[in-house]
Amino acid sequence: MTTFEGGPTIAIRARYEEVVSDRWPVFVRPQPGELLSSWVHRLGLANGIAPRPFGRVLGFSAGMWSPSLDMSFQSDAVNILSAYTGIPLPQLFTMSLKGSPLKRLLLPLRDDGRRRSSAWLQFCPQCLAEDAQPYFRRQWRLSTRISCPHHRCGLRDRCPSCRSRIAAFNQVELVPQHFCVTCGFDLRQASRVFVSPSVRSLDQCIHDICRLEAITGTVPTNSLIRRLLAIPDICSQHTAASLVSLSTSARIRCFARLAMRPNDWLIEDDDAVVALWRRSILSVDGHASLIGLLADALERKRLRLRPEKRQHPTTELSSLLTAYLRMMENPRRRSVKRN
Ligand SMILES: [Zn+2]
Ligand SMILES: [Zn+2]
Repeated sequence: MTTFEGGPTIAIRARYEEVVSDRWPVFVRPQPGELLSSWVHRLGLANGIAPRPFGRVLGFSAGMWSPSLDMSFQSDAVNILSAYTGIPLPQLFTMSLKGSPLKRLLLPLRDDGRRRSSAWLQFCPQCLAEDAQPYFRRQWRLSTRISCPHHRCGLRDRCPSCRSRIAAFNQVELVPQHFCVTCGFDLRQASRVFVSPSVRSLDQCIHDICRLEAITGTVPTNSLIRRLLAIPDICSQHTAASLVSLSTSARIRCFARLAMRPNDWLIEDDDAVVALWRRSILSVDGHASLIGLLADALERKRLRLRPEKRQHPTTELSSLLTAYLRMMENPRRRSVKRN
């Protein structure tokens, strides 16, 4: 420490910067598939700030500030998050929903309180229970996602104790986001929602079709989204309602009715190749994990290459799809080759 006047202050600040830099004290690692807002809530909490005041740190007033951040990827806020955690902006971008080709299938950010209406976020209690640090997944924002493929149960969109929607963005106490903000119920304790294997299979097939068509860039030009939004009408369950407007339990009932009828409503398309691809996925739902791996790999590559641009079909994609279709057409040859 220097004896000159003003010296000690300068010396301490320099050392302090060497030790902690300009980062927040506690680093919170994003989890696989985590939604940006979920990570932001955990980050604030780990650093001793509840979600609502943490929103003010990032420049937001009250309201659904963190779900809005998922959608807008608001530059001032994400620049702060990136600067104070060291996580690069492109990685934060992959956790957001900004520019998602499936945007129209996302559950709307609203809270009108009606029992049958949708909530902005869903969850699987068992996923939360198994997480070391419970977190919410990006795919739980999709209206087409109604079940958990890992736990083979239905998703929930409300606290089973007080029927409130998830409102972690409103939390003013230092309480983890898997506790209901309204009544304090631990969402990990919610009972299991039964969904039949055929409903889960349909859910997974729709999920895989959406992911692949989003990656190939065919979503804006074909009728997939329009058909999915019309599911309540197609199954005559809630005619004239859009899929995104219904609660998770109402959508599960829609899928249960759909699963009992042929899949023509989903397969038919102007493009014969797209129709063939959808038929293949639907006819071999036992290979959903393979399709999922394929979609995961292509999605990672797309985000690594050009985070904000929509991709056109690549040579790699078309060759992979051709190989997959050939394998599905002739499974016997495949097994002979292996032996
Ligand atoms: Zn689960
Ligand atoms: Zn509650």
